[in-house]
Amino acid sequence: MTRGAAERADIADHTHADIVIIGAGTAGLAAAHALTQRGREVVVLEARGRIGGRVHTITDLADQPVELGAEWIHTSTTPIRRAIAEFGMADEEFPVSHGLDVIAIDDERWNSLLEAAADLDPSEDLRSFVDRLAGSVAERDELEKLFAFWTTRESLEETSALHTMLEVAGNRTDGEALHDADFKLKRGWRPVLDRLAAGVDIRLGVAVRSITWSDPVVQMNAVTDDGRAVTVSAEHVVVTVPLGVLQNNGIRFEPPLPARKREAIDSMSHVPVVKMVFVFDGDVWPDGAPDDISDPEILPSRAILSNGWQENRAQTIIALWAGGRDATRIESQDVPEVLRLGEKALEHYLGDKFRRPRKAIVHLWAGDPYARGAYSHTPPGARADVRDRLAEPLNGRLFWAGEATARWRPRTVGGAYASGLRVADELS
Ligand SMILES: Cc1cc2nc3c(=O)[nH]c(=O)nc-3n(C[C@H](O)[C@H](O)[C@H](O)COP(=O)(O)OP(=O)(O)OC[C@H]3O[C@@H](n4cnc5c(N)ncnc54)[C@H](O)[C@@H]3O)c2cc1C
Repeated sequence: MTRGAAERADIADHTHADIVIIGAGTAGLAAAHALTQRGREVVVLEARGRIGGRVHTITDLADQPVELGAEWIHTSTTPIRRAIAEFGMADEEFPVSHGLDVIAIDDERWNSLLEAAADLDPSEDLRSFVDRLAGSVAERDELEKLFAFWTTRESLEETSALHTMLEVAGNRTDGEALHDADFKLKRGWRPVLDRLAAGVDIRLGVAVRSITWSDPVVQMNAVTDDGRAVTVSAEHVVVTVPLGVLQNNGIRFEPPLPARKREAIDSMSHVPVVKMVFVFDGDVWPDGAPDDISDPEILPSRAILSNGWQENRAQTIIALWAGGRDATRIESQDVPEVLRLGEKALEHYLGDKFRRPRKAIVHLWAGDPYARGAYSHTPPGARADVRDRLAEPLNGRLFWAGEATARWRPRTVGGAYASGLRVADELS
C-alpha cells in the first residue's frame, strides 16, 4: 500500500510489516525512501499529524516558506545536497552567511590542533582545551572565535573537547573544517522531504509507547491521535526518535535497553534552541545590514533575515534565535511572553524601520513531547564512541538512526539523512 506524503493514513488495530520505522523526520524518511526503492516492505509510524519532525516548513504564514525548525543546509559536502541535486532542486539553493564572527585558519594550524587533541581525555571541556593551547590572550580569543559555532549553542565549558576535535577531524576528511559554506533553499526544506516521502507507506498520528524486542518478531504498542490503542509487529524496527525522547523514556523498552546503549543515551545532552519568526509587510530590514546580525547584550542575541535572497521584498521574514542558557531562560516563559520579548528585541535590531509585525510564531521545541529539545550535544565526559553505541543494532532486530546517531555532522538535517541511508544499508 502506498500513500501520498500529506495524506492521513488509517491504521488497523493489528498491523504487521517486514520493517517498521518509528519517526517520519529526515532520518526515518531517508531510510524509508532507500528501502522502498530496494523493494522492501516498509511502514513508517509517525506520532505527529505531519512529516518532517524537527524540520517544520510552514507555507501559509507569509508569501515565502517559513522554517520553525531547521533552516540552513550546513556545509557544502553534506550528503543531503546530493539528494537535493538528484531531485532537480539544486537551483533552489542559495549560499548564506551564518553571521558568526569566525576565523579561517590554514591546514598547518588545523593539523597542530589535531595533534594536540590526539590524547584528549573525554572529561576535558572545550574551555580548558582552548586555555591550555593558547599561548597568549590574543591566541585564546582567536581559538574562541574558531569554535564560535559551539558557543552559539552551549558554552565551551559544557562542550566536550574530544568530540569537537573528532568532528573537526571527520569534517576535514571531506575537505571542510567547522563552519565553511552554508546554504538555504528558496522553497524551504519541505519539498525535499516530500520527495523522500513520495511512495512510502506513512501512518501519521501514531505514537509508539512501548517496544518488546527480545523475540524474533518485535511487538509495539502505540496510540493514535484519536486515542485508539493499536499493536504493530515487525521483523525489524528502526528507531529514529530524537535523543530527548529516549532520555525522557518517551518509549518504554521491554526488556530495558542494555547498559551500553543506555549509557550512550544518558551521557549526551540536548541543546535547547528558541527560534521565533516574525513577518512584516514591506521591507523593514536595516539598510546595508548583513542578513544575520547579532548583539550579545540582547535576548535573543541573533536576528536573521530569512528571505534575504529576495529582491524587492513585499514582506520581511525575520527569525530571532537563541541557544543554550539563553534559550532555557526564554523557554521558561509562555508563548505570548516569548513573542513579546521577541518584539522588544526587534525594536532594537530594526531601529527606525521597526513597526508591528503582521504575524509572529514560535514553536517551543524543549516542551514538545516528540522532540524534547533542538538537537543532541556531547558534553564533557561523553566517551568517544557514544554516537556509534547509539547507532549499534540490538539483537539483529532493533536498528537506530537520527541525527544523534550520526558521527558525521551530528545535529544537522544532513547528519540525520546520512544516518537514514546507513540504517537502510544495515538492513539490506
Ligand atoms: C529550532 C531548530 C533549528 C534548527 N536549525 C537547523 C539548521 O539550520 N540546519 C540543520 O541542518 N539542522 C537544524 N536543526 C536540527 C535538525 O532539525 C535536526 O537535526 C533534524 O531535523 C533531525 O532529524 P531526525 O530525523 O533525526 O529527527 P526528527 O526530525 O526529530 O524526527 C524524529 C521523528 O520521530 C517522531 N516521534 C517522536 N516520538 C515518537 C513516537 N513515540 N512514536 C512515533 N513517532 C515519534 C517525531 O515526531 C519526529 O517526526 C534545527 C533544529 C531546531 C529544533
